Amino acid sequence: MTSATLDKALRAAIRTIPDYPKPGIQFRDITTLLGDARAFRRAVDELVHPWAGQRIEKVAGMEARGFILGGAVAHQLSAGFVPIRKKGKLPHAKVSIAYSLEYGVDEMEMHEDAVAPGERVILVDDLIATGGTAEGAVKLLKKIGADVVAACFVIDLPDLGGARKIEALGVPVRTLITFGGH
Ligand code: AMP
Repeated sequence: MTSATLDKALRAAIRTIPDYPKPGIQFRDITTLLGDARAFRRAVDELVHPWAGQRIEKVAGMEARGFILGGAVAHQLSAGFVPIRKKGKLPHAKVSIAYSLEYGVDEMEMHEDAVAPGERVILVDDLIATGGTAEGAVKLLKKIGADVVAACFVIDLPDLGGARKIEALGVPVRTLITFGGH
């Protein structure tokens, strides 16, 4: 499939909800993509593509949409999956980090033994906006010694600068399609 065809297919499968959750935000809803068997497969295949045949030990996904995409990517790469969760959800010894949201901060957590030092990890989520969520996840992974090889997203909102923020941490970013604005 050419990149123009792929772009068109993925774009058509994503639903945009204007002014959700608040005025001025265009919410890029991927539930329609997940529910479309061909589009879901294409998105996962395309996320997997650069890593096929490479040694990737773990895929880390952010709650909650990162679990769906990251789980599928991990399965296809024969890698383990690491959930990065909101505070208070994980039962075992964990590491945590504060990360910035649009208003204020929150905390995310990961089990401290989820990745062994030096393991090659890719991070997966549906969308990168300001990059605050992904920045927290990268820092958490690095805290326990992971080698974060890349951060991969279906959607980039380049006007919000998130990809640049992650690349400044020394982690390459790969996204499949972009939408202008917020
Ligand atoms: P950020 O930390 O600003 O990069 O925001 C990324 C997280 O918020 C991702 O987990 C997205 O699922 C969600 N998100 C942010 N903006 C949008 C948007 N316009 N449409 C859908 N999800 C969004």
